[in-house]
Formats: sequence, C-alpha cells, structure tokens
Amino acid sequence: MTGISDDRERTLVFAEVALGQIRSLRQSAIPRNYEIWYVYATGYNSALNRVVNETLARNGCLTEVDLDQIHDTYLSQVRTTDRIDHVGARVISEIDDVMGLISDALGMTESFGQTLKGASDKLSFATDQEQLKSVIEGLVKSTRETRDTNKALEERLNSSKSEVSNLQRSLEAIRAESLTDPLTGLGNRKYFDRALASAIDVSHRQNEPLSFLMLDIDHFKSFNDNYGHLTGDQVLRLVGQSLKQTIKGADITARYGGEEFAVVLPNTPLRQALTVADHIRRAVMSKELKKKSTGEILGRVTVSIGVSLLQPGDEMESLIGRADACLYAAKRNGRNRVICEVDPEYSAEIQVQVA
Ligand code: GH3
Ligand code: MG
Ligand code: MG
Repeated sequence: MTGISDDRERTLVFAEVALGQIRSLRQSAIPRNYEIWYVYATGYNSALNRVVNETLARNGCLTEVDLDQIHDTYLSQVRTTDRIDHVGARVISEIDDVMGLISDALGMTESFGQTLKGASDKLSFATDQEQLKSVIEGLVKSTRETRDTNKALEERLNSSKSEVSNLQRSLEAIRAESLTDPLTGLGNRKYFDRALASAIDVSHRQNEPLSFLMLDIDHFKSFNDNYGHLTGDQVLRLVGQSLKQTIKGADITARYGGEEFAVVLPNTPLRQALTVADHIRRAVMSKELKKKSTGEILGRVTVSIGVSLLQPGDEMESLIGRADACLYAAKRNGRNRVICEVDPEYSAEIQVQVA
C-alpha cells in the first residue's frame, strides 16, 4: 500500500510543478503543454529539459512553434521512422526552396548583366544630354531593383539557414533518442548491441583484452513492491548515475533490460575489470535513497555483477553468456558481490547448470 500512495504523492508533485510552469509562462493548459511540463518536472528526459532551458534562456518564452517542435521531437508517440520521414521531408522542401532561390539569383545576375550591356551600347551612341540622362536613369533603376531583390534573397537565405540548423538539431535528437534509454539516459539495447559488436571486432583484430560486466539489481522486485514503481524507477536512475560516474574514456555502458545493465571495457584485462566492477558496486551501495516528498530514508540498494573476458573465437553471445553465469553465481553466493570466470564460485555454478 505504501508503494501506491507514494506513487500518487509523487505524481501530484509533478502535476503541480507542471501547472505552475504553465501558469507562470501564461500558456494554455492543453494536453500537449501539460505533457511537456510534466515530463520536464520528472527530469526523466534530460534532452527535453535541456532544450526547454536553452530556449527559455535565449528567448524568455516558448512559442507555439517551439512547443510543437519540442513535443514532436521528444514526446511524440509516432514511431521514430515516421518522425525521421517527417523531418526528412522538411529538409527536402527546404533544399527545394534554396535551389529556387539560387536559380532566381542566377537569373537576376544574368538580366542585370544584359541591362549593363544594353546601357553600354546606348552610351556609345548617345549624342545629347537627354539620351545620357535616360541611360543613367535606367541604370539607377535597375541597380536599385537588383539591390532590393538581393536583400530579399539574403533575408530568405538567412531564414533558411536557421530552419536548416533547426532541422539538423531535430535529426540529431531523433538519432540520439533512438539509441538512448529515456529513464536512465544510458545507451539502450540497440546501442549496446552495436557498440559491443564493434568493440569485439576491434579487440580480436588488435589482439587486445576486452572485459564485459553484467550487472543486476538485488531484490529489486521487493523494492518495487514496497515503495512503488516510480520509486523503483528512481533506483534505476541511481544505478545509471553510478555507472556514468564510474566508467571512463572508451568504456561503454547501457541498460541491457529491465533492471540489468551492461558495461563493456575495451583494452581492459580481467584484473582491472574486477576493480571497475567493485567501484560500481560500492558507488551504488554508498548512495542512500530518500523519498523526495517527505525526506524519509528508504535505505540502500545493492547490485551483483558477473565479469567475463573475451577469448579467441568468442562472439557476443558466448561472452554475455559467461558473464551471465558469473552473475548467477554472485546471486547464489549472497548478492552484493562481483564474480568472474576464474573464481571458484563460477565453476561451481557451471557444474550446477550442467547437472
Ligand atoms: P534478484 O536479486 O534475484 O535479482 O531479485 P530481483 O527481485 O531483483 O529479480 P527479479 O527478476 O525477480 O525482479 C526484477 C524486477 O524488476 C521485476 C520488475 O518488477 C522490475 N522491473 C523491471 N523493469 C523495470 C522498470 O523499468 N521499472 C521498474 N520500476 N521496475 C522494473
Ligand atoms: Mg534481473
Ligand atoms: Mg534483480
């Protein structure tokens, strides 16, 4: 029961923050705006928070176009491929416009060239002041026209430039989003599959050691049952943060599944990998969970970690499989520990699995 009432309390806090923002920015409380501000209040979508903060800092407000674009880019339920199609179509139409502008500019230069040539011919035959005056007036008129058209072209090109950079940002955001787990901000499974495959390839080719960590939160189900899913989600974010804080350089980390995380350590032998794994384990354990609304201490979470080392001829599945078996051994041996393939607990686990 604690879990459900805690969830309710936290969602009400998010709702209040969302409405407060809508009021203070004098926006209408339509679902699109409410959704943007609700997600903003949860802090779960860091890319959305960043773009909202940047736009507010730059312009002091969010226009209807900004709100539409933020919703389309960060919240729309429409499939990523459809959104890429949509942005792609806008890029194509912008390119069409710019091509049209370039043709206009070329046509205008050509016609001005002809005007100049005509004026030069007329000038060589001009015999009196009246003729001279009319040629010069003609030249002034067409120069003025050319200047005006140039100015219009310049303005149009400038607005095109800013639209293209907006589109570029949208495409980058969609691409990053398609590889990111929104809850923790870590890479998602798709990102992980690609990153691990390429790290294994490099390691085999360059004959460098590669270690792999599989991490699982201990007794997470009871945490969810006791405190509710929203608090469970906070735990996932806390583990994600601990991972981000611990890994460095070329290391790769991702949310592998529900409450499982993976870390790939290129160019890292087993001993070093065990040190990294233990840092992660300690970093998670050192954090105390507090209920935001009441400040009540909820305790600490622990993780178990299995570690494997890439062998010659190893593929993704075999490397992950051995780390998984080590993880099981860590669970069976009491949790909150790191076990690798050379530990006796791992051999015992394999024997249990074969028997
Ligand atoms: P163990 O120490 O053996 O790993 O026990 P456990 O309770 O962590 O393991 P189990 O596999 O029994 O439970 C995993 C739970 O993770 C089940 C589900 O409730 C929870 N879970 C998975 N994904 C999410 C998520 O995205 N959010 C939340 N809040 N919970 C999740
Ligand atoms: Mg699990
Ligand atoms: Mg678990």
